[in-house]
Amino acid sequence: MKNTKFIFVTGGVCSSLGKGIVASSLAAILKSGKKKVSIMKLDPYLNVDPGTMSPSQHGEVFVLDDGSETDLDLGHYERFINTPLIGESSISSGKIYKEVLEEEREGKYLGKTIQVVPHITNKIKEKIKKAALQTKSEILIVELGGTVGDLEGEPFLESLRQLKNEYGKNCLCAHLTLLPYLESSKELKTKPTQLSISELRKRGILADMIFCRSDMKITDDLLEKISFFCDVEKEAVIPSETAESIYEVPLKFLNYGVGDVLNKKLNLKIKNFNMNNWKKFVDKIYKSEKEVFVGIAKKYNKLDDSYISVVEALKSAGFSQSKKVKIISIDTEKIEKKDVDEIKKLKKVSGIVVPGGFGKRGIEGKIKIAEYCRKNKIPYLGICLGSHIMAIEFARNVLKIKDATSEEFNEKSKNKIIHFIPEQKNIRKKGATMRLGKFLCEISKNTKAFKIYKKEKTEERHRHRYEFNNNFLENFSGTDFVVSGKNPESGLVEIVENKNHPFMIAVQFHPEFKSRPLNPHPLFFEFIKKIK
Ligand code: GLN
Repeated sequence: MKNTKFIFVTGGVCSSLGKGIVASSLAAILKSGKKKVSIMKLDPYLNVDPGTMSPSQHGEVFVLDDGSETDLDLGHYERFINTPLIGESSISSGKIYKEVLEEEREGKYLGKTIQVVPHITNKIKEKIKKAALQTKSEILIVELGGTVGDLEGEPFLESLRQLKNEYGKNCLCAHLTLLPYLESSKELKTKPTQLSISELRKRGILADMIFCRSDMKITDDLLEKISFFCDVEKEAVIPSETAESIYEVPLKFLNYGVGDVLNKKLNLKIKNFNMNNWKKFVDKIYKSEKEVFVGIAKKYNKLDDSYISVVEALKSAGFSQSKKVKIISIDTEKIEKKDVDEIKKLKKVSGIVVPGGFGKRGIEGKIKIAEYCRKNKIPYLGICLGSHIMAIEFARNVLKIKDATSEEFNEKSKNKIIHFIPEQKNIRKKGATMRLGKFLCEISKNTKAFKIYKKEKTEERHRHRYEFNNNFLENFSGTDFVVSGKNPESGLVEIVENKNHPFMIAVQFHPEFKSRPLNPHPLFFEFIKKIK
């Protein structure tokens, strides 16, 4: 821990510039130099974690092996460094304040006045150090959400200032800004960058590297100008030009000499940054020509990020087979209302994913989609809620249990094919209602799932309250609907499949959280294989 080095990634000018991608890219570069690197996210919002935040507002909730519900940026981190993160890798103001206030109530502060400085800032520093320790990082990259100058980010910036002071040369601040383009004068402007660097400086933090996001090529004289006005050597002012694929960003950074700058500034002594495999993957992205259309039966339609891990998993499975996966959003509420244009979309796609989701809205539309896929032998991949939908559709239309449903949609129904997870040991954390994180799944031989996984056991991440109701197992036995994976300790159903269908498979877990660009999850890989 004493030797841990830190890279802080802060953002200026405005949000959504891609700090997460910069942080992930730096981590990928360092990992390619054989360093033990991890990443953590500091979120200034007051929610204790993003678990309760709506995906249509905040994007997907990413789940870790240990069951932590985290910001979607952690998904990028894991995809870029292919190393599992831990709950400590994600903290929010809410989590920090909650802990400090609980300690205050327990009398831990011995009657002192509790203040933002030092109590909140100390807690933030303690958490950052703990994350470094728990992840055994040689280098920990710490991304601060929001933009410098946001009121709620101040305690975090103050903590970073203190850590910079404490760790000296073992600490580096990389600041991401925007160079806006003015059409009228046909130039990129550097003033917002200068102002944002001075905002940092006001808080006692000197930037060591500046990443300049721009939709245009950044010329050398601009880099020089930024270097001059912001007191950062020119070699450490790095263009972060919008890339066609986020996965190209680390390669671009390496070309701009980021590896050398990190080596020098943090005294890392890395001799070789080997990103050959990564480069091969990026080449595939650009060379994949065959377009295939996959539908995602969406409920959260406002934000593209709501299903980001599913989309990334589909796309990388596509690239590995030289296919360019085009996603078509299917609005399940519109399907429910028999909207003609929405129904046309079903014809356009060659396979459909019914992803996870909560609540009743759009459910009947999803059931219609499952029926359509089953009857027309269209590849169907059901994830979590999508597995409930597959079971309900089969029960209603094949087993003729007309009112088959989930307890989530109708508590009073007699035929709850899907029900609230029964009280059992090791299934939920004490007091919690959700089954979260990594659980074992045993896959039965002679099933499609076994052919796909090519192994008898797998560990997958979960996030759900409801589950296949084993009291109905009998009804399904002897039909095309086969249970092909189960959790050995609890007997809970994990994978189901239609044995008389080219690919109709649904899983209780979230395979998208374990899919990696260079190593797509086998379920996504096989699903895409079936997409012509
Ligand atoms: N809403 C369902 C449940 O709680 C499914 C959850 C999900 O899709 N992640 O079980």
